[in-house]
Amino acid sequence: MAGKVVGITRASRSELRPAYVRAIEAAGGMPRVLPAIADTDAVQQYLDHIDGLLLSGGDDVAPEHYGQEPHPRLGTVDPDRDAMELTLIRLALQRNLPIFAICRGIQALNVAMGGTLYQDLPSQRPSEIAHQQEEAGLPRDRFSHEIDVVAGTRYRTIVGRDRIPVNSLHHQALDRVAAGLVVAARAPDGVIEAVEAPEYRYVIAVQYHPEETAPHDAAARRLFEAFVDAL
Ligand code: MN
Repeated sequence: MAGKVVGITRASRSELRPAYVRAIEAAGGMPRVLPAIADTDAVQQYLDHIDGLLLSGGDDVAPEHYGQEPHPRLGTVDPDRDAMELTLIRLALQRNLPIFAICRGIQALNVAMGGTLYQDLPSQRPSEIAHQQEEAGLPRDRFSHEIDVVAGTRYRTIVGRDRIPVNSLHHQALDRVAAGLVVAARAPDGVIEAVEAPEYRYVIAVQYHPEETAPHDAAARRLFEAFVDAL
């Protein structure tokens, strides 16, 4: 609720896109950007000062963290960020802190909980759907495919519909879903677009970028509002 602090992760070598900060502010939360410092004591101190965790988008998670060799089409990785975020996620789950994870965030959450990823969707799981809409020249805030929402999930209650349009800016996705996570939405080609962790107080994760569409998309805004309300 108002005044609650949302820690937002970021890359170690580039700035956080402002849309994350704006979406948290618009939902009534207080954003605090967390640098990628891997030291466990520092991570514990971050957690002492935030009420919830927003995992933002970014580079690929290094496949060594889920026991695989790098695929030839693996993208850029950020080892400092991987180390910090995987520790941060595990400690945040131990504390039962609310988590909202976006794009790389859903992937990092799944890896932290023991799942695996497709390292490159176009080559490992060919589809009619262009999950990288920027390659078709579509702006980040434009919808590019729909997703089917799973009945009975918390996510379904939040977004309020069985099928919603989303943007798509990813070349990776969840492969084996970690124990403890439940699929909450899929693209028509079967790619996982949302998961949640029902055993925790509040853990919702999406593969798309609701922070980009929130200004014109009520379902995206409700995801930020439900997260901030859960703090
Ligand atoms: Mn997609």
